[in-house]
Amino acid sequence: MVTFKDVHKSFGDVDVLKGIDLEIKPAEKVAVIGPSGSGKTTIIRMLMTLEQPTSGDIFVGDQNLWKMEKNGEFVAANEKHLREVRGDIGMVFQHFNLFPHMTILENCMTAPIHVKKEAKKVARQRSIEMLEKVGLGDKLDNYPSQLSGGQKQRVAMARALVMRPKVMLFDEVTSALDPELVGEVLEVIRDIAKEGEMAMILVTHEMDFALDVADKVLFLDEGVIAEQGSASEVIEHSKNDRLQSFLHRFR
Ligand code: ADP
Repeated sequence: MVTFKDVHKSFGDVDVLKGIDLEIKPAEKVAVIGPSGSGKTTIIRMLMTLEQPTSGDIFVGDQNLWKMEKNGEFVAANEKHLREVRGDIGMVFQHFNLFPHMTILENCMTAPIHVKKEAKKVARQRSIEMLEKVGLGDKLDNYPSQLSGGQKQRVAMARALVMRPKVMLFDEVTSALDPELVGEVLEVIRDIAKEGEMAMILVTHEMDFALDVADKVLFLDEGVIAEQGSASEVIEHSKNDRLQSFLHRFR
């Protein structure tokens, strides 16, 4: 569904991604692990179509997302395709990014109404369903400031799910949470993963969670995929020294 071919990304003189080859299949669950600064967020931002490669190709379906202009800059290869791709992606971030002046129900309803032009009634019903799914059916009229971090993160998930994405991106969604709130958020992600139909890309430091949920794990190190395979191959049986020392810090 998504294919990276020899993708490079530099910011000024800094080469952040140095030739990424990657394939994500429909409904596949992929965990991305690696030290800070290895390029994980940059890959996520490329999947979100927020960053363009410096060189290389990113295909969604069989269409290239970007094309190079004569001046060497990348632009959308096809604006319509890019818009469709953006509509298929759901995102959850480390810092929730909820709208503080809206109730949690309104937070969920706003994109279906304004982006997808869904009828208010339909958006409302579906938002309630999704908030119930993440265990917040009794908080519909609360504001984000009235919720715990774990609850806020669950709202962020419901808000993404309402849009029926084909791909969900999770960028260190438990990193900003107090330890006792991590479990409830991972539990919801596990539930979503079990339903199966969406592809999920998760940047995470929760190795047991990755073992449990991921079909495939990528170890990113200094801008290259230094190791990839099944969760068990990468997390439990790899001989890669740098991966070993990275894992020692988390297990
Ligand atoms: P990770 O998510 O693995 O911590 P990132 O993808 O955030 O890594 O960053 C990788 C490297 O790219 C870091 O050295 C970071 O400073 C650099 N970087 C990321 N975004 C930018 C940017 N917009 N401008 C300059 N440097 C950046």
